[in-house]
Order: sequence, then structure tokens, then C-alpha cells
Amino acid sequence: MAFSLDKSARDFAEAKQYIPGGVNSPVRSFRSVGGTPPFIAAARGSKLYDIDGNTYIDYVGSWGPMIVGHACPAVTEALRDAIGRGTSYGAPTLLETELAKLIRAAVPSMALVRFVNSGTEATMSALRLARGYTKRNKIVKCAGCYHGHHDSLLTKAGSGAATLGIPDSPGVPESVAAATLTVNYNDAAGLTELFRCHGGDIAAVIIEPVPGNMGLVLPRDGYLQTVRDITKEYGALLIFDEVMSGFRVGHGGAQAIFGITPDITCLGKVIGGGLPVGAYGGRREIMEHVAPAGPVYQAGTLSGNPLVMTAGIATLGIIQTPGFYESLTEKTARLCAGVREQAEKRGLALQYHQIGSMFCLFFGNRPVYDYDSAREADVGAFNTYFHAMLAQGINLAPSPLETVFMSSAHSDEDIAATVAASKVAFASVAEYLKRR
Ligand SMILES: *Cc1c(COP(=O)(O)O)cnc(C)c1O
Repeated sequence: MAFSLDKSARDFAEAKQYIPGGVNSPVRSFRSVGGTPPFIAAARGSKLYDIDGNTYIDYVGSWGPMIVGHACPAVTEALRDAIGRGTSYGAPTLLETELAKLIRAAVPSMALVRFVNSGTEATMSALRLARGYTKRNKIVKCAGCYHGHHDSLLTKAGSGAATLGIPDSPGVPESVAAATLTVNYNDAAGLTELFRCHGGDIAAVIIEPVPGNMGLVLPRDGYLQTVRDITKEYGALLIFDEVMSGFRVGHGGAQAIFGITPDITCLGKVIGGGLPVGAYGGRREIMEHVAPAGPVYQAGTLSGNPLVMTAGIATLGIIQTPGFYESLTEKTARLCAGVREQAEKRGLALQYHQIGSMFCLFFGNRPVYDYDSAREADVGAFNTYFHAMLAQGINLAPSPLETVFMSSAHSDEDIAATVAASKVAFASVAEYLKRR
């Protein structure tokens, strides 16, 4: 049977009548790769099932959360059990303390943890806390790092050192954007220069220690230590946005792998087991500035929701099993090596980045270390690869600036099928590059 998305295309057209662009988060719309997003009917293990009857091996994993696979029985059963006891109380539960304990055990820098409903809310609240704690206003972020869609962080500005923030989106006041300074990731000299000019006004540096929103980019040796040292020297807080990397690159997140202790950490994705969640936490003395312990206000009607906490506890319970991350990392390395072998047989130049269960391809022969170099990768080649993979039942993120997420539910057969599909897809890419 030929691959078809006819039903999805009809539903996509109808969705556009009711929802802006037909989606509730822009990248789902396939704007970058073109074509129709499959409308999903169900998911189980490593597989997604769409309304056209297609089955996919899924490497999006709901953009990161599904580290134990879709509809994981332990998570589903815990949720089924919890839902009979009510879906929200607006009052404290033991579940919140239990999840906070699991998080602190894995990420000791999070002495106190506050739960919120999304990663966006976590980073937004962390910035307010950093500003309230330091009594300074400016924030530093790296171009290409994504921290959610609130005003302060929706800027990437130009390249180079101290570019004053230009809003990325209409609706972000220039006054807000101007308080956000942007540097290039992996540019220690640029950051040092920025602090030399503005150090006394900087409340915090917020950074994805391992950026996963410009494709997957890895820190240069010593870079994160420099970021830690400079922030400490100037009395600014270091906020690690581990919404994606937390419980993903390893049990203790990127901070454990690179041995850097941030002042505040933001989490999301995996800790909610596929339900909407975020969290921020850090040193007790800082976190005690958050209301009601302190004056920095932050609240949430559904924060710490019992279903979310239940899914999070069940998920973190599974990933504590000894060897969980070793096995996931090994599996991801095997996929990466298999795909690479196929590309090299075709004589295609690619950059391969992997850490833990995250893996990303950049089409091109130049090293990728920041946003500008990531955007130099060949978009046309990626789009060709993407559609050839989709048609063979492999669901990759529909953008060259995203990453692959492996789950514990992916089997050796899934990996073999993905490598085999890559062989075919790389042939299409080679054909495309010849024609172009
Ligand atoms: C996904 C993500 C966010 C935003 O989380 P939402 O739950 O989508 O609001 C923030 N930071 C990073 C690093 C992310 O990957």
C-alpha cells in the first residue's frame, strides 16, 4: 500500500478552520519541511499510529517526555488508579513531596523544588526569582537556546557579543526585550566581554547546558565551567534550563555529566511522564525567596496536579533502574553509527552529535557549535531525508533544528528498520543534491 496522508490532510484543513494554523504549537504544522502532519490516533511503546492507518517508529517522543515509551504500562496503570481519586484538589498532596524527593535525589542542586505546568512557566518563574533575589534586571541568554515563549526569552538578537535584544515576535515590548542580552553559545570570550560591560546589572545567565533546540549542540571543553566562573565572579545567578536535558541525557541531567552546579535548574518534559509539567528549583537560600516562603510571587491553580505528579513518579521510578541510561545511550550510539555508515556509503557529509538518548544530524561538512553554524546546515537535504523517512514509517522531528529522542521502548528491530530506511532516504538525498 502506498504511503498516504489523505485523511490527515482533510483533518488538517478542517483544524485550520478552528485553530490558528491548525495546531496548538507551531512546529507541529510541518511549516519547515512542508506537507501534511500525520494526525495521530494512538501511541504505544516506540510506535505512533495515525488516522490514515500508517504506523511509525517514533523518535519525537512528544518532543522529549516519552523516555519510557508511549502508554508505558506502569505509568498508565498508576494514572488509571489515580484518576478515580479525583483529578485536582487545589490543596497539598503527598505526591508533590514524593516527586520533589525523587528529583532532589537525582539533581542535588535542587534543594527546594516548585512545580508548575510547563517548561515556559518554569523558566519565566526562575527569571523572576533571579531578578528578585539579585535586585538586578538584565538577563543573558544564548542565541539559538529556547527557553519557552514568554516575553523575556523570546529574543535571539544578532550574533556577536553584546547585541541589545530585538524582539523575535511582534507583541514582545522592546523594553522587555532590551533587558535580555544575547551571546553565542560556546563563545566564552563573548560572554566575558558582555560581563565586563554589563556585569553589575546582570541578574542571571540562563542556558541550555546542552542545547537541543538548535539541533543538538555540545559544549566545548571548559565552556560551561567558564559560564559558572563568570556568573559567580559578578554575583549573577546561573540558571540551567534542563527542561529537555533533565532526566534525558542522564539521570542527573547535564549538570551531573559536566560537573557544574547551577544556582537554579528548570525541568519539564520527562518529569511529567507525558502530562503538562514544569519545575524550578535550586539552593534553599534562593528558593526561600519564592512565595509564600518569601516575597517573589508565583502561583498556579493546577500546579502539582495529582495526575501529573503520579505520571512523573511512575516515570522516574522506572528510569532509576540500574543500567537504564547506559542501555539507552548504547542503543542511541548504535542507531547513530548505523545511520552514519549508510551516509558514508553514499559519500554524504554530515555532522553527528549524540549525548545520552539524544542524537542529531546536520547535513553539511562544517562543524556545528552554535546557532549560526547550525543554521548553515543544508535544509533542503534535511527535508528530503525527513520526507523519505516519514514515507517509510519513521517519525523524525519535522525540522533540521531538532533532535532525535530514543526511548527504552525502542527495540533492536526498530533500530535496524531505521538504519535500513536511512539507506533509502540517503539515496534520495544524494539524488536531490545531484539535481540541485
Ligand atoms: C521544551 C522546552 C521549554 C519549554 O517547555 P514547554 O513545556 O513547551 O513550555 C523550555 N526550555 C527548553 C530547553 C525546552 O526544551
